[in-house]
Amino acid sequence: NRRFLLARRPHGEPVPEDFSLVTEPVPQAPEGGFVVRNCYASLDPAQRGWMDDAPSYMPPIPLGDPVRATTVGIVSSSNTDEFQVGDWVMGLNGLEDYSVNQAGGFTMKVDPSLVDSPSKFLSAMGAVGLTAYFGLIDVAKPQPGETLLVSGAAGAVGSAVGQIGKILGARVIGIAGGAAKCRRLIDDYGFDVAIDYKGKSVDALAAEIRAAAPEGANVVFENVGGDVMDAELMNLAKHARIVLCGLISEYNSPEKVGVRNLWQVLAQQATLYGYLIMDYAPRFAEGGAAMAEWMAQGRLRIDEDVQEGLENAHAAFMRLFTGANTGKLVLKIADG
Ligand code: NDP
Repeated sequence: NRRFLLARRPHGEPVPEDFSLVTEPVPQAPEGGFVVRNCYASLDPAQRGWMDDAPSYMPPIPLGDPVRATTVGIVSSSNTDEFQVGDWVMGLNGLEDYSVNQAGGFTMKVDPSLVDSPSKFLSAMGAVGLTAYFGLIDVAKPQPGETLLVSGAAGAVGSAVGQIGKILGARVIGIAGGAAKCRRLIDDYGFDVAIDYKGKSVDALAAEIRAAAPEGANVVFENVGGDVMDAELMNLAKHARIVLCGLISEYNSPEKVGVRNLWQVLAQQATLYGYLIMDYAPRFAEGGAAMAEWMAQGRLRIDEDVQEGLENAHAAFMRLFTGANTGKLVLKIADG
């Protein structure tokens, strides 16, 4: 059982020495539990936060434990009637070949006949689209004709936010890094406007947003924070709703600098929502059904960036922070 362990807490950007890959015997199912042979693991910006010893919505990953990750895999041994050997399951496990589970935990069965690759349970059928769905449908509630501004727009969550925003009738402006990603926003995801934030000052970026949305944004879906968010904050419409979904530009900075234009929230009587998808678990079936329908209709496209090999976990994870990922980042651990 190869396990990708958190050896020490990263200071700033994670480096290979923060992790160790060890090999241990394959575990057997415990009393009342089962073992999953992991095939794909989700690589998420949130994992960077779980590596820090700081208060959060989940305890930090203990040092010496495998890096916590949502995985999809096959039950390889079982001591519970709930799960049979051969069942496909998805759950919160770790970056490792085999994960021990107790019955009654988060792990759920999935039906591989529904998808062309089990990785889809981490992307199109996973929390990515649901994060976009509930953040819009339940929190921001964009109205037809309103302006929706999305950062991290070409990423997994951001690209889904923009597309669902269009389905809901909003005018969608996306902010992403580089010309190629901006082209994809228009050509692949149907955004109305794409803005490249790279190499621009807060003032220059704010001016570009203003040119695209002279009346300001009614909804901001925030995935990035830092300078990008500062530029957005200078372009709020009165009573704007800001969904604070992520702050990826700050995850690797030991000193959390934060935004400086927060006073705009007050000035525009805006509302800032701290948003976590986990709260919506009881409604995943509802969101999943809506997204499946939009995908079947060709109105929603969720791309994947599949990297291979547990031994490449660090390099693969860093794609999220260099922006190299071209869709939902997934690590293939083994064939199904
Ligand atoms: P993405 O697929 O969007 O990948 C991350 C992207 O972030 C990169 O491709 C890069 O795009 C961008 N990025 C990285 N560093 C910076 C930086 N310093 N400044 C600006 N952009 C940067 O990842 P996800 O879709 O998985 O996650 C997107 C966001 O959503 C994250 O903030 C994550 O924490 C959050 N999230 C929140 C959830 C919740 O429940 N609240 C659930 C799931 C995700 P580019 O090339 O454009 O720079």
